Amino acid sequence: MRIGVLALQGDSREHLLLLKQLGVEGLAVKTEGDLAAVDALIIPGGESTTISKLLVNFDLMPQVRTFAKSKPVLGTCAGLILISDEVIGALPDQELITGLPVKTERNAYGGQLNSFEGSVVFADGTSENVAFIRAPKILEAGNCEVLATHNQEPVAVKFRNLMGASFHPELTGATHLHKLFISLVEEHQS
Ligand code: GLN
Repeated sequence: MRIGVLALQGDSREHLLLLKQLGVEGLAVKTEGDLAAVDALIIPGGESTTISKLLVNFDLMPQVRTFAKSKPVLGTCAGLILISDEVIGALPDQELITGLPVKTERNAYGGQLNSFEGSVVFADGTSENVAFIRAPKILEAGNCEVLATHNQEPVAVKFRNLMGASFHPELTGATHLHKLFISLVEEHQS
């Protein structure tokens, strides 16, 4: 199994380190060729407007959209925004990958000064400390399975081959979300 991490902007390095720690081969994805060489893709946190522009400028948007139609994709923070079907606060010309049937609001927890570390609780009772950085909120989780909550609100969801989370698990040593994603990739391979 090889999991790609989109490496146009954002904290791809931390995701690659976490994959390594979990014994999974990772690849920084910057080109169409890189994307063709991975079984699944993580879209990291960063700035969704910038990642969106770079996907368009590097002509990768159509390829990533096609990839997300059938292969496992995990979007965290800016990555969640990019795979959401509906985004409140997106720039008028901001192109999205879409596919995850949620309504997400950009910067809904506030700006940089309101960024915080907090505890999220997964469906199996596992609780982990994670970082919310200019984080988006999942306002409506639609038909998604809720994977984790924070203050009773959904912060990580799954729909078919797609997973999205409002937070950064990779900055605080949290591993649960990545383990769930690795299981999803295994299911897709079998
Ligand atoms: N607020 C950022 C955006 O709109 C996301 C922040 C993050 O990924 N930590 O893209």
